[in-house]
Amino acid sequence: MLKKEADFIIVGAGSAGCVLADKLSADGKRQVILLEAGPSDNRFWIRTPIGYGITYTDPKVNWCYSTEPDPAIANRQLFWPRGKVLGGSSSINAMVYHRGQAADYDDWRRAGNPGWGYSDVAQVYESFEEFSTTSGARRPASSHPQSGNRLTIHDASADYHSLKHEFVEAFLQASLNCPENLCLEGEGVGPYLITTRAGKRCSSATAFLHPASDRRNLEILTNTTATRLNIEGGAAIGVRCLSGNQFIEIKARKEVLLCAGAVNSPQLLQLSGIGPGELLQTHGVQSVLEHPHVGRHLQDHLGINYFYRANRPTLNRTLRSWPGRIGAGIQYLLRRSGPLSLGVNQIGGLARSRTSLETSDTQLYCNPVSYQPAEGETRKLTLPDPYPGFIMGFNPCRPTSEGSIEIGSSDPHAPPRITTDYLTTQKDLDGVVSMARLVGRIQDTRAIQDILAEPPDLDLTSMPEDDILKDFRQRSTTVYHPCGTCRMGADIQSAVVNADLQVFGIQSLRVVDASIFPNITSANTNAPTIMVAHEAARRILKHLDS
Ligand SMILES: Cc1cc2nc3c(=O)[nH]c(=O)nc-3n(C[C@H](O)[C@H](O)[C@H](O)COP(=O)(O)OP(=O)(O)OC[C@H]3O[C@@H](n4cnc5c(N)ncnc54)[C@H](O)[C@@H]3O)c2cc1C
Repeated sequence: MLKKEADFIIVGAGSAGCVLADKLSADGKRQVILLEAGPSDNRFWIRTPIGYGITYTDPKVNWCYSTEPDPAIANRQLFWPRGKVLGGSSSINAMVYHRGQAADYDDWRRAGNPGWGYSDVAQVYESFEEFSTTSGARRPASSHPQSGNRLTIHDASADYHSLKHEFVEAFLQASLNCPENLCLEGEGVGPYLITTRAGKRCSSATAFLHPASDRRNLEILTNTTATRLNIEGGAAIGVRCLSGNQFIEIKARKEVLLCAGAVNSPQLLQLSGIGPGELLQTHGVQSVLEHPHVGRHLQDHLGINYFYRANRPTLNRTLRSWPGRIGAGIQYLLRRSGPLSLGVNQIGGLARSRTSLETSDTQLYCNPVSYQPAEGETRKLTLPDPYPGFIMGFNPCRPTSEGSIEIGSSDPHAPPRITTDYLTTQKDLDGVVSMARLVGRIQDTRAIQDILAEPPDLDLTSMPEDDILKDFRQRSTTVYHPCGTCRMGADIQSAVVNADLQVFGIQSLRVVDASIFPNITSANTNAPTIMVAHEAARRILKHLDS
């Protein structure tokens, strides 16, 4: 057994873990060890933005989870990709960058978490965001005094497929809010911002970890899986892990920081005896502390795509045909531009499905490409339909249904049980109907009618509510945003961590990743996770100084 020691042990080099590794090692005063179950991210299909169509199902860099059958979605089991590589899910995600809405964070604060309202976290965002345009210019989001590594958020609107004009015109004709500024926060539809830099993916590893990786006080252990947290006398004192056949015991002089993501952080707590008592007992795990909410309150965005045949070329032609692919490949290699430098979620944002609502309830996606989902949801983004097509789809922003993550055995290598329990509230069911009607309004606009080669498959304006729901139950799928399974809150009776992200009842242990969200944010979850890690680092460093 190999033994090591550090001030901080960070478990998981994902969106959050890479930020902590950077921030906690920055002044050179503390020894930091970062553990990552997956390999290095030095791979062509990770660096190349369109490559997420390939890493989507690649078990070398992806946990490739499968959920339990869910009766609300026709007993289907969904494929749940999660990053298993430096950068975590930010290395395999679709790169859309959106902070969500102010109300999301105001609800975090209201749930007993001082310092997490939007007026607080907006400054945290500004401390790490920098914007770039197609000309290559990069500028910080603000004159925020904090220096340090920044995440590049790219305005790719000039490069998006020409269908963007019809999509935006359709939004205007459907009376949606199309602000002049790009969709960074709050209500508004238009071109999406993406996390790329000079035509390559800008993951959390690119932005924060790689610039820090030469520091002598930061050790990065890839292909190393934490199998158990060592807890003694009510405090986390280290981590046991496995690298190949080699067991490693790492002692933490200060803290253990769990950043394994919304699926694996609760799993590791439960494996270490911190979780619901009955669950631990069922699997023969010795209880360290009964923690009823570990693994509960799983939230996710569940969305649906509607498919359309177009009367003009879409990205299908470029991405499917060999001449199209070769042309796009040459453009990418020579200039780092074109379809390979982008995602396929190009146009969309947050909207209200009914004008009577105070905040947006719907996230929209309009993609200039179409691909029929394959059996088991493991669709290939790289193989679009053989005819011109496009997609419009939606997901509810703030679903209220909650599922859970539970160990299925005491074996750390066995995947946890992911019970999604989607659509278990009336609010979520009602939302689906009104949001489908909103897509119906958009598909009925002159702008969309003019680009259709044939009438839409579904008449979403007049379709009976039951049929809309039936279709949603049969075809909806995850938008890959699990969170909330170690939620932050007021006490152990309602949450897992406090506002400083410390685990209730256990000293020297924090959880810092998407699992701490008290409620899901309205849009994509990479931005909020990176924000959470910055705020966590600030609080950890302040705690050290006090
Ligand atoms: C296919 C896909 C598309 C997405 N698209 C978008 C998008 O367009 N925009 C957006 O904002 N969000 C998107 N997301 C979601 C977003 O990427 C995640 O919410 C975010 O990355 C979560 O960050 P995290 O730090 O909580 O977890 P992760 O980034 O998943 O990091 C967890 C890390 O911990 C490691 N780990 C787990 N267990 C262990 C262990 N026992 N020992 C050692 N290491 C361990 C994992 O391998 C992983 O690297 C997408 C996600 C996926 C999967």
